[in-house]
Amino acid sequence: MENTALFDFIAHCPTAFHTAATVCEALTAAGYTRLAESDAWTLEAGKGYFVSRGTSSVLAFCAPADFSGFVIAAAHGDSPAPKIKENADLHGADYTRLSVEPYGGMIFSTWLDRPLSVAGRVVVRTARGIAVRLCDLRVPVAVIPNVAIHMNRTMNDGVKLNAAVDMLPLYGGADAEPLRARVAASLGIAAEDILSADLFVYNPQAGVEWNGFISAPRLDDLQCVYAALHGFLDAVDGTAAKVLCVFDNEEVGSQTRQGAASTFLYDVLRRVSAAYFRDYDAAVAGSLMLSCDNAHAVHPNHPEYADANHTVRMNGGVVVKYNANQRYTTDAWSAALFRVICARAGVPVQLYANRADMPGGSTLGNIANTQVSLPTVDIGAAQLAMHSAYETAGAADTAYLYRAIKQAFETTLTALADGVAEIV
Ligand code: ZN
Repeated sequence: MENTALFDFIAHCPTAFHTAATVCEALTAAGYTRLAESDAWTLEAGKGYFVSRGTSSVLAFCAPADFSGFVIAAAHGDSPAPKIKENADLHGADYTRLSVEPYGGMIFSTWLDRPLSVAGRVVVRTARGIAVRLCDLRVPVAVIPNVAIHMNRTMNDGVKLNAAVDMLPLYGGADAEPLRARVAASLGIAAEDILSADLFVYNPQAGVEWNGFISAPRLDDLQCVYAALHGFLDAVDGTAAKVLCVFDNEEVGSQTRQGAASTFLYDVLRRVSAAYFRDYDAAVAGSLMLSCDNAHAVHPNHPEYADANHTVRMNGGVVVKYNANQRYTTDAWSAALFRVICARAGVPVQLYANRADMPGGSTLGNIANTQVSLPTVDIGAAQLAMHSAYETAGAADTAYLYRAIKQAFETTLTALADGVAEIV
């Protein structure tokens, strides 16, 4: 698995809307058929399908006629970034800045002094109504400048950056062309035909591989999306229904119409079960979910932030994440299932837990389980600087993730009783 292909994927996914579209394109190219939630579904056994919701989350599936259960890999397509407010241009005497607010838990300082671009979706007026169009300016159009050290001599003692003051991107001179006009021109439409927009500032810097590591924007969680997508596409069809989930809004708590806390997954699994005359509850009982989101590698300069007995390193294999308070859903049952799968794939497993005095993050698995309750293991690749505008991970770990996820899709799991399973 070439990391250059991962970098290319990341470049095509500046926002969750683009991630969804890029995943849909790959699924279409592989022969999968697009469905709409608003249609009635007639499904053919062994054929692949996908459906999007909110133009930013995608579920894909492929089920044999008499499937035993679902094997699900879920990752998220959104990343922390400055979101551009509806009235985008903030005109001043000297400059025009962009009016933004943080989406998700950005590391503010990492967004300073780097060329930034703008991408997202606009909803446009059409002859018959309204429609979503994706836009990506691609070229640099903004910078968030630091204050010179001569104006803040104590800067290296630590700076508190204010979201409403320090994080507003410089966009142009006082008479800069309105952002919406520029977006409209990039789409070949009139600015007045844009009725509303979800636009983000993003880092267009390309990914690089160096000394066994990779650095790129949005590795959390596009590294997992990429590995899950290809594991899903390449898996030899087994007895389970394989399901790929790419959710939006993980970075803001998932509680949206298309997020992991929504009914999207439940609705699709229920419709798939009905189409194949399978009992939904029985199918879910024999299922497994891989909740794929990156993990924190031990930091070279701050090893003290890692739990001494659960440090994970980049290029060390797939990380299984544990948390006593179940912010990660992994338990002995789901971890054991995953260990069997990884052993079959020849993929090394590392174990992660937060320091007992650090709350850590949460992810998709426990949230999705409130709608569809099934054994779930939280996994990911080890990385540094999570939520930075430019993150670092291991060059070998995308392939490890891919192999583990592919193997999971090829595994038959049969629940013989509560607490007893057959794995073939
Ligand atoms: Zn994440």
